[in-house]
Amino acid sequence: MNDRGCKSEAKTTMNPQQQTMDYGEYSLRPNSLENFIGQESVKSNLQVFIKSAKQRKIAMDHVLFFGPPGLGKTTLSQIISKELDVGFKSTSGPILAKAGDLAAILTNLKELDVLFIDEIHRINHLVEEILYPAMEDFQLDLMIGDGPAARSIRIDLPHFTLIGATTRSGMLSSPLRDRFGIPLRLEFYNPYELQIIIAKNAQLLGIDICNNGAEEIAKRSRGTPRIACRLLKRVRDFAVVTGAVLIDKNMADVALKKLDVDEYGLDAMDRKYLRSILEFYNGGPVGVDTLAAALAEKRDTLEEVIEPFILQIGLLQRTARGRMLTSEGYKYLGATTPPAADDDCDVPNGS
Ligand code: ADP
Repeated sequence: MNDRGCKSEAKTTMNPQQQTMDYGEYSLRPNSLENFIGQESVKSNLQVFIKSAKQRKIAMDHVLFFGPPGLGKTTLSQIISKELDVGFKSTSGPILAKAGDLAAILTNLKELDVLFIDEIHRINHLVEEILYPAMEDFQLDLMIGDGPAARSIRIDLPHFTLIGATTRSGMLSSPLRDRFGIPLRLEFYNPYELQIIIAKNAQLLGIDICNNGAEEIAKRSRGTPRIACRLLKRVRDFAVVTGAVLIDKNMADVALKKLDVDEYGLDAMDRKYLRSILEFYNGGPVGVDTLAAALAEKRDTLEEVIEPFILQIGLLQRTARGRMLTSEGYKYLGATTPPAADDDCDVPNGS
């Protein structure tokens, strides 16, 4: 981690050559488990499974990553293939429209390869049925032709590891979910882990940042590395334009205020979401479809992007009757909590 203290008089300015380069997200991805910050229990379990598969020279069991967007599901999948020292092929659920699309990918895999399917909950059921024998027996059952002349052929596939990523594990059918031998849930990162990620990325991007600058961005990154990286780059833009030599707490705070990111990490859309529950539905309960219509947003966006962090920090609760503000939620909006705000019964996240 960059150990630059804020009091230290930074003589160096941001490296101008590096300032003009945008490395893009891909190169900021850590490329080994050792360099991957956070998710400690996921990492230590993966280390064991990878080692075991390598020692036995077999394909590692299929892995399902689930958790909100931007927590590192794709990154970890790439790391697994690197650590296993095997090829990596990537696709995504919505792209696989026909059984033949998946068949083409499966038949092109090499022995022990990793196949990554992002948004696997969006796979259609015809494709899903092809996946079952492929995952279980490494075989592909294909129908050739149709009508009375149709016949089924069976093709042997190379042994491979399927890694599925989903933001909505509840939307996966149970036969598909059960075929993943290694289900792993990614959690939101704590501010300290995000601070380390920000400091590392700042170094890669040639951004001069001190500890309390990184800490400020970390606190306001909604527990999510992707957001932390994005905010770091945007704060850098403000620093460059205002001629700041170093991003400190004050610089980060000024820039994040301009970006409309508050001290909880919530942005204008989050606040609009919370305000509409308060102002249009008296604090709830209100159904998610009603809210989506009121906000002109997709239900999926609310459930996958906006709600998980607001639930996590306790401003919102999901009840059997719909979404409701908690007493913390009322406090956040500067409103008075009605007496029964926290009395409703919770249903688990992701349901
Ligand atoms: P997901 O697939 O869960 O949506 P990604 O793997 O695409 O998330 O990660 C989003 C970005 O966040 C990546 O580009 C990577 O730079 C960064 N990132 C995610 N996890 C970490 C981590 N633990 N350490 C450093 N950077 C991370």
